[in-house]
Amino acid sequence: MFDLKDKVSLITGGNGGIGEGIANGFADFGSRVAIVGRDEAKCKKAQEKIINNGGEAKYFLCDVASYESVKDCISEVNNEFGSIDILVNNAGTTIRKAPHDLSPADWKAVMDTNLTSVHYFSSIIFNQMKKKKSGKIINIGSMMSIFGAAHAPVYAASKGGVVQYTKSCAIAWAEFNIQVNSILPGYITTNMTDGFRKNFPEDAKLVTSRIPAGRWGVPSDLAGTAIFLASSASDYVTGTFIPVDGAYSIR
Ligand code: NDP
Repeated sequence: MFDLKDKVSLITGGNGGIGEGIANGFADFGSRVAIVGRDEAKCKKAQEKIINNGGEAKYFLCDVASYESVKDCISEVNNEFGSIDILVNNAGTTIRKAPHDLSPADWKAVMDTNLTSVHYFSSIIFNQMKKKKSGKIINIGSMMSIFGAAHAPVYAASKGGVVQYTKSCAIAWAEFNIQVNSILPGYITTNMTDGFRKNFPEDAKLVTSRIPAGRWGVPSDLAGTAIFLASSASDYVTGTFIPVDGAYSIR
């Protein structure tokens, strides 16, 4: 039921952090993994790790904020693997500034990477999933899909948008047997949060004290939920958002 054997998955930001944790989990369950990212050295390392563990993976360089780059990337993945059965929209970025300090360029950079890219990938890949009458799309939100964030307002706006976009696609595409869901990670140790822990240790301590599970998550903590949402075990689950957060969001 959780088997991903021969299923092709495309994971944006699959070359590090949460995306890599999901990529490793998918490969362990038999998926052929297309790792999408910009940093070639990270891509190579993530690809090698899966291959060394006996899995199948290939990386594709892409700027998810560029429509042309996304279109080319999807063609390359289809040429290589012949299909895309599972899409994970995981690539993301943030800018730590108060709302009144955000420039138009700051706003656009975060929105394009975190939200517009989700639309680019989903709307293009939808066409092939519709033809097959089958597909799984997993969008990575955040605790900021639920909570406001005084120091990350555009990040929060983009991640709130990810959840609303997820629900909308789930309704629109249910008749084609395409399930669209989102995962809301809690506080996870990755490159994205390294700076926060280093530069704002008191704030980071406060976060830890607020996590009922008593610890930050690690990238592999996200894999199980992603495997569920990518497999036939979740064929009647669509439009939902699942926090994976050690109970942070219900406290
Ligand atoms: P990382 O910084 O480790 O990973 C971010 C990934 O996104 C990298 O693989 C990066 O690839 C990719 N990426 C960013 N911009 C682009 C772009 N323009 N084109 C292609 N790839 C891009 O952080 P996380 O693993 O933590 O973040 C993954 C997702 O999880 C993000 O959406 C983030 O918002 C979300 N999240 C993270 C949480 C956490 O606590 N860590 C909590 C909640 C949500 P490259 O290096 O090649 O550019």
